[in-house]
Amino acid sequence: MVINYCMEYFRRNTKKLWVKDVAVGGNAPIVVQSMNNTDTRDIEATLAQIEDLAAAGCEVTRVAVPDQAAADALKAIVERSPLPVIADIHFQAELALQALTSGVAGLRINPGNIGSEQRVKEIAIKALEKGIPIRIGVNSGSLDPEIRDRMGGVNADSMVASVLKFCKMLEQYDFYDICVSIKASDPKLTIDSYRKLSREIDYPLHLGVTEAGTPREGIVRSAVGIGTLLAEGIGDTIRVSLTADPVLEVETAYSILKSLGLRSKGALLISCPTCGRTEVDLQGLAEQVEILLADVREPIKVAVMGCPVNGPGEAREADCGIAGGRNTFSIFRNGKVVEKVSQENALSVLIREIEIARNKYIQAHQEN
Ligand code: SF4
Repeated sequence: MVINYCMEYFRRNTKKLWVKDVAVGGNAPIVVQSMNNTDTRDIEATLAQIEDLAAAGCEVTRVAVPDQAAADALKAIVERSPLPVIADIHFQAELALQALTSGVAGLRINPGNIGSEQRVKEIAIKALEKGIPIRIGVNSGSLDPEIRDRMGGVNADSMVASVLKFCKMLEQYDFYDICVSIKASDPKLTIDSYRKLSREIDYPLHLGVTEAGTPREGIVRSAVGIGTLLAEGIGDTIRVSLTADPVLEVETAYSILKSLGLRSKGALLISCPTCGRTEVDLQGLAEQVEILLADVREPIKVAVMGCPVNGPGEAREADCGIAGGRNTFSIFRNGKVVEKVSQENALSVLIREIEIARNKYIQAHQEN
């Protein structure tokens, strides 16, 4: 899997922590994570899904630990997992303490619901001893009730106040290996909350729009919420939450990162929306090229455009591309038409151009 950190981009400065061997925060690339939706007690199904997530480029995964049997399964999952595994635990401090001795790479808790002050202390001390980071995950539905009531309900101020309170609960035991999330299902509240929070703390931030929905709505809501924050330099790791196969979450995460030039994973397809100048089945062509590019690991840009008049110019940034015409297709390289081909030869010539672009990328990176 070729995953690159692309271009220089303004990033808010945060502390760096390690989720096993994956750096989060500081100057590290923005980490893509997901969450298994398998029954954690089913070790084989959970590991099979982790393999799928890893193949899609996921870098950290999280599993729910709702009961003792799930906690008991953690050790076997962690030992065989190709990805660092974070245990997600609510309400039961005992399970969190057990997870910390099962080799997990991180813990996600909400100190407000994990039990008494004493239990938080026990978790902080054990996590410190084991060198395991903790993500404080505050959602709009799990605010500190006293703060929520005092600050006028669920809003960015009460969400941030809850996070700060929970951070202090860990800090008083000298625990600073903290990552924070402050998610809402409303992208605007999510954006406002992270903006405020990023001015208050320098712990790495885990971004996400929670319960974003089914793919059609959820991808848009996640792209708006996560993308807006990333574009402002906020965020160190992202998880797209979808009511779908988590592999789609990972693919969507990379699409968001690629669209901002923050990470690259494979080729980027650019295709025009078509207009009255289009005289070919552009959608069909774009779909064929998308399939072709699925196995391309190098971060090249390939454009599929509707007409030779404006297409190459509109896709000037592409490494190569094709533009449909009446009887011929134009093949272009870096915004300039280099060849005109018949419809039957169009795809094979484009494949040749894709290979040229790939080799150019590989050579440039070998030389570096
Ligand atoms: S590339 Fe050509 S066909 Fe496509 S939107 Fe632009 S002008 Fe229209």
